[in-house]
Amino acid sequence: MLGLLESRTVSSEILRYANQGMVKTDFVQRVAKLLLTSSKCEAVDVWLRDYDRYLRCSAGRHNGISLSLQALDGGREFLSRQARMVHREHSSELLVPVLAGRQRLGYLHLRSSRKDHFPQAVQTFYQEIADTLASALMNVQLRSDLQERIKELTCLYGISRITAEPDTRLDHMLQRVANILPAGWLYPDIAGAMILLDGHIYATPNHHPHGKYAQRANILVRGRQRGLVEITYGEARPELDEGPFLKEERRLLETVAEEMAAVINRREAEIEKLRLEDQLRRAERLATLGQLAAGLAHEINEPLSSAVGFAQLAGKCPGLPEQAGRDIHKVLYASLQAREIVRRLLTFTRQTPPGQMHVDLNKIVAEGLQFFESRCAKEGIELSCRLSPAGMGVEGDPTQLTQVFVNLMVNALHAMPSGGLLKVRTRKQGNRVLLVIEDTGVGMDRHVLQNIFTPFFTTKDVNQGTGLGLPVAHGIVTSHGGTIVVTSRRGEGTKCVVRLPAADTQGQIGDHHG
Ligand code: ADP
Ligand code: MG
Repeated sequence: MLGLLESRTVSSEILRYANQGMVKTDFVQRVAKLLLTSSKCEAVDVWLRDYDRYLRCSAGRHNGISLSLQALDGGREFLSRQARMVHREHSSELLVPVLAGRQRLGYLHLRSSRKDHFPQAVQTFYQEIADTLASALMNVQLRSDLQERIKELTCLYGISRITAEPDTRLDHMLQRVANILPAGWLYPDIAGAMILLDGHIYATPNHHPHGKYAQRANILVRGRQRGLVEITYGEARPELDEGPFLKEERRLLETVAEEMAAVINRREAEIEKLRLEDQLRRAERLATLGQLAAGLAHEINEPLSSAVGFAQLAGKCPGLPEQAGRDIHKVLYASLQAREIVRRLLTFTRQTPPGQMHVDLNKIVAEGLQFFESRCAKEGIELSCRLSPAGMGVEGDPTQLTQVFVNLMVNALHAMPSGGLLKVRTRKQGNRVLLVIEDTGVGMDRHVLQNIFTPFFTTKDVNQGTGLGLPVAHGIVTSHGGTIVVTSRRGEGTKCVVRLPAADTQGQIGDHHG
C-alpha cells in the first residue's frame, strides 16, 4: 500500500520537473512515466486540456509511452469533478480530475489488471498528486509561455539587427536571417530554416527540403508572392496546433515573412531610386553630348560640302589620269559617307519638335518590313510579325518613326549573322502603343548595354556601324514623349520595347485601315 511519504516523493518529483523549464509535452511524458513506476498499475494516461483539445500521454507497462492530440469529445467520459473508480470482474480503473480551482486542466486515468486496485486511501493519494500536478502545470504553462515569448522576441530582435545594417547584401542578409530562425522554435536542435526569394534559396544545413514536418509563410511584396519562409523539423514531434508547431510559432513565422517583405520592398525602392538617378545623369550626359555634336555637325558640314563640291569638280577635269580619277572617286565617296553621318547627327540632336500628324504605327511597321523581307530570307532569319488589331495611332513624324523602326531592325539583323528568329510585335497597352523588336542574336553584355545610347558607341567595324543608330532612335522616341527600353543577354538575344503615347483615339475610329 502507498503511504503518505510516497505521495510526498512523487509530488516533489513532479514539482522538480516543473522547475526544470521543460516544454509541456516533455513534462507530461515524465509525469506519466513517474506515475506508472510508482503506481504498480498496467497503464497510466495523463489527459491535459490544450485549448479545444486534449493532449493525451499514455504510458503502459508493455507498450511504452505515446503522445497524441485528441478532440475534446474523447475526454467527455471523464468530465467528473470527483475521483471515480470503475470495478470490473478482473480489473479496475481510476479516474482523477486535475483541477486548479474551478478550472479543469485534465485527468489522470490509471488501469490495473487487478480487481480493487484502488481503495479509498489510494484514491486520496492520487487526488493529492492531481492537486500537485495542477499547480505544477500552471507553472509549466506560464514558464513555457514566457520562454516562447522570449525566444520570439530574441528572434525578432536578431532579425531587426541584421536588416538594419545598411551595407549588407540582400543575399547575405537572407542567409543570416535563415540562420537565426531555428532558435525561435520549440525544438531548435532539429529545426531547419529556409528563405526562398525569387527562386533563390537561403537555408540552414539541416533544413529538410521536402520534409514532412514543415511550417510556411509566404513573402508578399506589394501584393505579389515572391517567395516564402519555411521551418522544418527533421524528426517527428508530438502533434500540437499545426503539426508539431505551436500557434505562437505560426504568428512568429508570419511576422518574419512580413518583415522580410518590408525589407525587400525598401531595398528595391532604393535600387529604383539609384536607377532613376543614373538614368537622369545619362540623359544629362546625352543632352550635353547632343549640343556638342550639333555644334560639331554644323562646323563639319561646311568643309565637307566644299570637299564634296570640289571632288566632283576635280572628277570632271578633262585629261585626268585614270588613277587620279579613281582616287578622287574614293574621296568623294568617303566625303558623302561623312556627310551621311553628319546628317544623322543632326537628326539625333534635332532641337525642333517632330512634325505632328496622326500616324498609324502598324502602317509604319508594315511598310518598313518590306525592305527587310528578302534580306531576312537570304540570311536565314525567320521573320515573325504580329500586329495589334487595336488602333495603333500616335501623333508624330512618320519619317522619324520609320527611322526608329529601321535602326532597330538593322541592329537585330546585324546581331544574327548566322540566322535566327526576329519577332516584330505591336500592342496597345492602356494609353500607350508598343513596338517590340526581339532577336535571338548575339546579345550584349552589361558594358555594351550600358553604353548603347551613347553617341558613336559601337562594337562594329568602321563600315558596318556608326554608333548612332540607337542614340538617334532614343532622341526621336523621347521627342515623341515615349520611351525605349532595351534588354539583352549575351548569347541569347535582345529585346527592344518602344512605348509611345497613343493618339487620342476619340473620333478616329476606323482610321487605321491603310
Ligand atoms: P551601331 O549599330 O552603328 O553600332 P547602334 O547605336 O545602333 O550603333 O548600336 C550600338 C551598339 O549596341 C552596337 O554596336 C551593338 O554592339 C549594340 N547593339 C545594338 N542593338 C543590338 C542587338 N539587337 N543585338 C546585339 N547588340 C546590339
Ligand atoms: Mg545600329
